[in-house]
Amino acid sequence: MSHFLDRLNYFSQPREAFSGDHGVTTGEDRTWEDAYRNRWAHDKIVRSTHGVNCTGSCSWKIYVKGGIVTWETQQTDYPRTRWDMPNHEPRGCARGASYSWYLYSANRVKYPLVRGRLLKSWREARLAHDPVDAWASIVGNDAKRRDYQQVRGLGGFVRSTWDEVNEIVAAANVHTIKKHGPDRVIGFSPIPAMSLVSYAAGSRYLCLIGGV
Ligand code: SF4
Repeated sequence: MSHFLDRLNYFSQPREAFSGDHGVTTGEDRTWEDAYRNRWAHDKIVRSTHGVNCTGSCSWKIYVKGGIVTWETQQTDYPRTRWDMPNHEPRGCARGASYSWYLYSANRVKYPLVRGRLLKSWREARLAHDPVDAWASIVGNDAKRRDYQQVRGLGGFVRSTWDEVNEIVAAANVHTIKKHGPDRVIGFSPIPAMSLVSYAAGSRYLCLIGGV
């Protein structure tokens, strides 16, 4: 019988008590529970990590079904570093533990985004200038600079392309180096432990251009 009909017939269903009425056996339909079981179903378990909050150093079991990450749990096979040290397990943060939700979130940023007002100025400037001069024509003009800076914090981002944002970033860096010197280009990692991408790639880039 369906769960819906079971609910309608709730008071007339046969019940069999056991353990002196402390327990009861019913014949209700329980196939709906498969939805919950399927939520945790998987074809295979693979080892992986994240870089969302850290160095990407925690080891995780990733449960995969049909190529989709369904959930994750911490690995528990870290080597012991010293006999008198407690083991590392379980290890991993709450952010990493919910990372499979990030992967498929509708809120995930999938494309480069630029503040609309800046992009409008940039595209206009690029019609008349090379990239570095285009950037200089925006930041060197009080009205144009204020136009996009005064709406910071108000959203208004629009989709761009990697080629376009890379050109903006490169032009801005070259402009700053030409005008103020390379040590005025400063990078920092947004998190103390620093992931491989934000730390290694960013540090290498800053070293190469003489930044900080
Ligand atoms: S600190 Fe968090 S995000 Fe980083 S690897 Fe460990 S669980 Fe993943």
